[in-house]
Amino acid sequence: MTRPAVLFPLFASLETLPGVGPKVARLFAAIGVERPRDLIFTLPHAVVDRRPVASVREVVPPATVTVQVTVGAHLPPRRKGAPWRVMVRDAQVEFQLVFFHVHGDSLQRQLPTGQTRVISGRLDLFDGIAQITHPDHILRPEEARSLPRYEPVYPLTQGLTNRVVARAAAAALARLPDLPDWIDPALRAREGWPGWREALQAAHAPAGLGDVSPGAPARARLAYDEVFAHQLTLALARRSIRRAKGRASRGDGRLTWRVLAGLPHALTGAQTRAVAEIAADMAGPLRMNRLLQGDVGSGKTLVAFLALLTAVEAGGQGAIMAPTEILARQHFDSLRPLAALAGVRLETLTGRDRGEERAAKLADLAAGRIDIIVGTHALFQKDVAFADLRLAVVDEQHRFGVAQRMELGAKGEAADVLVMTATPIPRSLALATYGDMDVSVLDEKPPGRRPVRTALVPSDRLGEVVEHLRGAVAQGRRAYWVCPLVEESEVVDMTAAEDRFRALRAALGEGVVGLVHGQMPAAEKDAAMADFVAGRTRVLVATTVIEVGVNVPEATIMVIERAETFGLSQLHQLRGRVGRGTGDSTCLMLYQPPLSETAERRLAILRETEDGFRIAEEDLAIRGAGDLIGTAQSGLPRFRIADIERQSALMAIAQSDARALLAQDPGLAGPRGQAARTLLWLMEQDRAIRLISVG
Ligand code: ADP
Ligand code: MG
Repeated sequence: MTRPAVLFPLFASLETLPGVGPKVARLFAAIGVERPRDLIFTLPHAVVDRRPVASVREVVPPATVTVQVTVGAHLPPRRKGAPWRVMVRDAQVEFQLVFFHVHGDSLQRQLPTGQTRVISGRLDLFDGIAQITHPDHILRPEEARSLPRYEPVYPLTQGLTNRVVARAAAAALARLPDLPDWIDPALRAREGWPGWREALQAAHAPAGLGDVSPGAPARARLAYDEVFAHQLTLALARRSIRRAKGRASRGDGRLTWRVLAGLPHALTGAQTRAVAEIAADMAGPLRMNRLLQGDVGSGKTLVAFLALLTAVEAGGQGAIMAPTEILARQHFDSLRPLAALAGVRLETLTGRDRGEERAAKLADLAAGRIDIIVGTHALFQKDVAFADLRLAVVDEQHRFGVAQRMELGAKGEAADVLVMTATPIPRSLALATYGDMDVSVLDEKPPGRRPVRTALVPSDRLGEVVEHLRGAVAQGRRAYWVCPLVEESEVVDMTAAEDRFRALRAALGEGVVGLVHGQMPAAEKDAAMADFVAGRTRVLVATTVIEVGVNVPEATIMVIERAETFGLSQLHQLRGRVGRGTGDSTCLMLYQPPLSETAERRLAILRETEDGFRIAEEDLAIRGAGDLIGTAQSGLPRFRIADIERQSALMAIAQSDARALLAQDPGLAGPRGQAARTLLWLMEQDRAIRLISVG
């Protein structure tokens, strides 16, 4: 497929625009504008009212004013560094124009005494005298007619003036082709949105502040175009993944029933719902691509295991993949009793398996003698073959973006995919990042969890915390001690953790304190975890490797050093490690004073609530989308116009509309489908374009 010819002028070199040479083009490139297309989507962020007034007396300084004046006397500077002043008079009063570092000659030419000029600029009062310093415009009356009544203000970079941007933008706008609309006509009518070309023209010619607000119809429409293109890409990705499946995995309930009958508790309502949604997907003819989202402790593991059993009941195998060896090991340990109840064979495979043992496991896997395998990305290695893999569960995949998920899908396995994430993300972000997936949410926690008492403690009271810990350990309690993320460097983290480990060992006694961090050899990590699980050590000093998934119900104290350096969701995850058993739990967040106002607000939220979704929403409001999950890793799209945080409603409409369009017109061959293809080109949705080409 090639780009439609109507779009060529918008994808030409920027230098084809008037006033843009190589130097200006480089300045544009610095703000990400490389072709006319980029320029038309770079909207003014403000507007200056240049409507002329009869006299500066009509405005209250400071304010921008446009007024016709008669030029009076020039007052050259009397000493070095003083400004050049020009007296001017409008219809009612006299005031001054002020210029620093100028040549008198050129000013005399621009502002000849006795002549009429239209001046526009910011009027200020200085020592009671009205003046405009360096007016934005000095025009002859006949030129003044070309001054827009409302002047758009563009985002600028060093050296790029608003005039240059405005002129180039106007030229780019003059090239806009007339494109058939890709928006559902009913939606457009309901929202009162203009057509595409009209919207761009309006967005670049705001006539007041209302027109530069995101809610203005022209802007809302252009924002919708962006999110719609993105959602269409996700919908195409979703379809290509689902299409790959050729058969249905229907369980008969004989294994899941054994587990449910053997458990001391019933499923929560949310678990029951999720299990049903997953089973329905697996039984269907399309490939499942589902996200299981739930706060820490919401019981995702059990839901995932029931799904894996369904795969086994259907005569196949299941795999569950964790991001680290510690987590893979934890999953294995927590699934083992469930596997025993069900009577299925559960094994692990990680990078640590070598030699004969590994070869034996691979042989068993290939022959179907292993029902469910728990592992790390080692499961992806080429020599790993399954007899009949029906379901792949991927844990904690929020570190990956859409692109990686698409790669997973592209592996050609017909297996259903269930992604689990414990990061509660706000709905708008979920739509933007996981729009290619169907989502099940565990929004209800199993009964019996006790609230965790959360306290903020300044770091100069660290001594008291250690004393408190000594008392708690003497009573047989167990604690995590999480060391700060000093830098994005594992080595620095490790040093901090080792120092704390030594200090606590000195204070609490040899043998009571254990240490686990990301740089340790796997066997040592396991040993340290095992010691803590068994209660041989009572305090576990750790870097954030324990963040996700670790389950030691006996641990009831969580100490987090330099809590202000962690993300809110991360702190929430860490806190979720305690409060899992029957005892009262405490989370002590140590911080280094003084806290900034923002940091204080953020930490206060944690003290107020244990609701991960609320925490995530608040975090988003305070920090912004990119920060929340780390832009680089998040797979979050970069929008020029749409604002993911504030326009989640648009995102939701776009998702259902994109899916509806594909359902109606799978080949995007009808008139609206064709228009949508053009949109994908316009929005440079390369992945989507590739997917249409193959599909
Ligand atoms: P998540 O993985 O979502 O953080 P887990 O699956 O680790 O949560 O579950 C947390 C704890 O709750 C585990 O100890 C698990 O056995 C328990 N649990 C799970 N489902 C239920 C339930 N329906 N009723 C009571 N306890 C449950
Ligand atoms: Mg878990």
